[in-house]
Amino acid sequence: MANDPSLSAPRGTRDLLPPESWAWQRVIRVGMDMFAAAGYAPADTPVFEHTEVFERGVGETTEVVGKQMYTFIDRGDRSLTLRPEGTAPVMRAVLEHSLHRAALPVKLAYFGPMFRQERPQKGRYRQFWQIGIEAIGSESPLADVEVIELAMRFYRTIGLEVKLQLNTIGHAADDCRLRYSEVLAAYLREHQAELAGIDRERIRANPLRTFDSKETPTVEVMAGAPLITDHVCDECRSHHAEVIAGLDALGVEFESAPRLVRGLDYYMRTAFEFVAGGLGSQNAAGGGGRYDGLAELLGGPRVPGIGFALGLDRIMLSLAEQESGPQEGFVTAYVTTLGEAQGTAALEIATRLRRAGISADLDLMGRGMKGQMKAAARSGARFTVILGADEAGPGHFLVKDMTTGEQTTVDDQELERRLTR
Ligand code: AMP
Repeated sequence: MANDPSLSAPRGTRDLLPPESWAWQRVIRVGMDMFAAAGYAPADTPVFEHTEVFERGVGETTEVVGKQMYTFIDRGDRSLTLRPEGTAPVMRAVLEHSLHRAALPVKLAYFGPMFRQERPQKGRYRQFWQIGIEAIGSESPLADVEVIELAMRFYRTIGLEVKLQLNTIGHAADDCRLRYSEVLAAYLREHQAELAGIDRERIRANPLRTFDSKETPTVEVMAGAPLITDHVCDECRSHHAEVIAGLDALGVEFESAPRLVRGLDYYMRTAFEFVAGGLGSQNAAGGGGRYDGLAELLGGPRVPGIGFALGLDRIMLSLAEQESGPQEGFVTAYVTTLGEAQGTAALEIATRLRRAGISADLDLMGRGMKGQMKAAARSGARFTVILGADEAGPGHFLVKDMTTGEQTTVDDQELERRLTR
């Protein structure tokens, strides 16, 4: 099998196995609990959608839609796409179920795999995971502040240091981003000869995208480009000022990033990214922004919204670089029996402990006593419970504290208490 690539995980995908999967689960739980504590209810949408959801929602000139989507025709001749991101599907679901007609804002949190056919490298996969929230229905800059503070607190709680980069990208109107696009396009045309070849075609299609270019000659040209922050309309400017004031009030630190435009079309006004160490060129650990025009692109009424998506794969990579982190997934008790004559005894005790809320494991391989003790040590359990030892006597167990090596005799009735002390 190892020699047959067609029987391995496809390029750009990964298996999540222990011990990594424990840390993974812990991080998701921390996030979903934290978001719930701020009023964000869990939501889940299908991993595939009608292709139009992304074509219309994310935008056809974007890298994601133009080059990276896993699109297929199903047996019913429908064009479907594995979701490359979570916001358009969540908005699609909100509109479809009319949540936007009930109490606003609709606050939702999600996590799950996303799919983009990118060139795989460290921190960049074809199936990757995001955890995110969306606050839908509020135009207030306070919603932006709430969302950004939550992301920052999430990173801090899981022990990852990130920098918040913040920008406003205005909105798609003649006196705002459209006017700026022309100014930028004019600048780019002036410097056309200096741009990297693949970026030249962007000038007409979507000049803002040139800020996303990783090509050195283009990056140099962009360093001197006019900045959107100097060209947005008064309303967008004051929204941005209020977001900044709110972040200051909550003590959330940020850096102004006037060249940050984000890769998806639906963003407007607030755009932000979280940058982490140890990730090389794939250093964006998450990002988000305001998307007041998305609902209309999806055929709904105007419903504003703001949210973020954090890249779990990169978060876990960066955490791993920072420190190895505590060992996880250890049970409290490993139940062993002296000899096979014990039958279901160990399973009965393990089940009794589990029912009492004490995590427990046992041997399911028919090992002898020595093998069971080895397995107990390998499991990392805090205690080993030994059944059927002569020296314990009937109705008693031996309990070995694996950290001190100390062994005590415990009465059947006392077992739970001994293990939770
Ligand atoms: P985006 O909406 O594209 O900015 O994605 C939000 C976050 O998801 C990024 O900041 C990354 O942390 C993560 N992400 C995006 N694409 C990938 C990928 N191909 N592999 C791993 N993580 C990704």
